[in-house]
Amino acid sequence: MIEVAVRGHPYVVAVVGVGLYGLSTLERLVANIPEYVPKKDREIHIHLIDPCLDRGSRTWAVDQPSELWMNSHAGMMTLFTDDSSSCEGPVRKGPTLQEWAASAGEVLSSDETLNGLVDAFSPYRWASRSVMGKYMGWFLDHVVQNAPSNVRIHRHGKLAVEVSSASDSLQEGESVKLADDPVPLVCHRVILAQGRPATEPTPEQQELRRTMSSYGGSHEPPGQASLSKTAHIKPGDRVLLRGLGLTFFDYLQLLTTVRGGTFHRAANGSLTYEPSGNEPRIFAISRTGVLAHPVRWWPMTGSLVMCPVPRFTSPQIFSELALRCDTAVALKEATARMSSELLYFYYSDTLSADPERSSSAWHRFQQTYPSLEPGSPAQEELIASLFPMEERIDLDRMMDPLQGETFSTLESLQTWMRRHIAQITNRTLTKEHSRDLALRTALAYITASLQEASRSRGFEANPDFYKGIWDWAWAKMAILTGGAPWPRQLELQALSRCGVVTFLGKESGVAHAPEAGTVKCVSETVPVTVGIDHLIEARHSMPTVTQTSDALLRNLVQRGEISWRGFDRTSSPRAPGPQRVTVTRYGSLVTTDNRVSRTIYAVGADTSNPILTPGLPRVGTDSDVFHLTDRVARHLLESLIRGYPDTSTEE
Ligand SMILES: Cc1cc2nc3c(=O)[nH]c(=O)nc-3n(C[C@H](O)[C@H](O)[C@H](O)COP(=O)(O)OP(=O)(O)OC[C@H]3O[C@@H](n4cnc5c(N)ncnc54)[C@H](O)[C@@H]3O)c2cc1C
Repeated sequence: MIEVAVRGHPYVVAVVGVGLYGLSTLERLVANIPEYVPKKDREIHIHLIDPCLDRGSRTWAVDQPSELWMNSHAGMMTLFTDDSSSCEGPVRKGPTLQEWAASAGEVLSSDETLNGLVDAFSPYRWASRSVMGKYMGWFLDHVVQNAPSNVRIHRHGKLAVEVSSASDSLQEGESVKLADDPVPLVCHRVILAQGRPATEPTPEQQELRRTMSSYGGSHEPPGQASLSKTAHIKPGDRVLLRGLGLTFFDYLQLLTTVRGGTFHRAANGSLTYEPSGNEPRIFAISRTGVLAHPVRWWPMTGSLVMCPVPRFTSPQIFSELALRCDTAVALKEATARMSSELLYFYYSDTLSADPERSSSAWHRFQQTYPSLEPGSPAQEELIASLFPMEERIDLDRMMDPLQGETFSTLESLQTWMRRHIAQITNRTLTKEHSRDLALRTALAYITASLQEASRSRGFEANPDFYKGIWDWAWAKMAILTGGAPWPRQLELQALSRCGVVTFLGKESGVAHAPEAGTVKCVSETVPVTVGIDHLIEARHSMPTVTQTSDALLRNLVQRGEISWRGFDRTSSPRAPGPQRVTVTRYGSLVTTDNRVSRTIYAVGADTSNPILTPGLPRVGTDSDVFHLTDRVARHLLESLIRGYPDTSTEE
């Protein structure tokens, strides 16, 4: 079909979902419009559609409790491209979250553990998510106010429920139906930026919900924590939080401080929790039974005398491995190389940071280790000859410290857990443990290499390889840096000490106990079963298009207009594997019969487009979020003015 541009009639674009990706794509559209659609040529109308539009989007809603924090420092977060951005479109600079909050007089967050250590506007302060929502609202207004005069931006605070073809013989386009609105919007192009919409419960979850409610309790499926999900839980009820990640910490806040409990810091620095009496009894369990290490607080410098550079991994090495015919062999080599890189950094730091160590040990390690085959026994022998047992690191153990551990009593497990929390928090906060920082530095190099390599053609041709190595690096990153902000970890210790939270270790399942009129949770780590009233799946839902409860996506799936790539590696009956919407490099939807949509784009971390640094863009990191949103925006504008390019060149 040939696109006919009619001078005088506006181009119309709809953005469905105005969270991070929707906003960024809007900003990139507006930034690129002068190059593609000069003012004299034509108007361009952009419809923003999101039921949370005036509330700072779903994740960052301005009306959520301020106790729910972001897990990244406010000084790192930005929605603006900066000098590091190498995307094709123009750079448009602006303040970081922290800079904006300081100028707007917005307190980033308030917390007993942080107060007195960092000031209210410090870049090292964590921000409440609601403050991020306000920054996003300000950003949207800023983009609108600074848009070229031929751009009109219309806001619709509604759900989009259907996108269907509105093409006729002259013009191709889509009709976008909004909830409770009889007149659809007719658009030339639609960008889906819906984040991760809610999913239908799995059969196992439905069964649990039935069982729990038959005992007068409840079951909450995976998804973002919110006040409405905890409102029915009464003081003293027994609540099982299944999952110990960031969503767990959100639920903790909702069930404790949001209910009036307070933390107090004693003169000796120790933290205590004073219950309000409105708390339930919280039991915590998960697959690994432990927490991820907290996010690093401030840069630790000064301990290193000599510093390693990557020797086992590089963008070229990853690109070459991606082109190998045998993906399994390539993955094995990539994994061995990445492990060796981590160990190389770890042991280099161990030698360098210790003034007692002779420089000959450093030189021997530097000269020999990189020349040994990654993953070979020779590597192990060299490490054994240079480092006593207590200095060695076991990467598998670091990932799963409760593996094979059992405790005879619940109390002994609580003591172990509190010690473990203290250990991982102290390691993050003190210079003495710069070896952990060395591991993170190695991972940062690896992910930067992956990011660069992912822009090469070989990577796109081998998504399984890409997925495999990224999963490996992501799992390490998640355990080393994916934990809650350290004040939250110290608060958890205090909640455990006063008995509001009880750790149950690794989960081995839940069992019906009709005789007790309850469901019981069974631990693999400690020989106890605990009766529960409410079960909350304290984790994010999996990306899925087949199980989504979003009407718009469901309809597109049913008509075959959306296809997806599934990765089975993490599948289990409790958590089906993730499905990512298949798109071209430029974000165009790919249908189930492998056609490339000329009118619908999808953008976000749950699409098949590689985003190696998911989450909000970090300042000064040439964020690949901007690479993606810029690429999509430019392709869309190009397709509007010149017609959709030949699809054979798409990928
Ligand atoms: C609870 C939580 C906390 C996070 N914290 C951090 C953090 O601290 N730091 C970090 O870097 N990353 C964080 N992330 C990860 C990531 O940065 C965010 O998820 C990010 O907001 C993702 O952007 P998005 O645009 O894909 O989705 P979202 O921001 O979720 O936006 C999607 C929007 O689409 C709308 N929408 C969905 N369906 C429709 C429809 N049919 N019609 C109209 N609108 C629709 C939703 O209402 C929503 O506002 C967090 C994620 C979550 C879930």
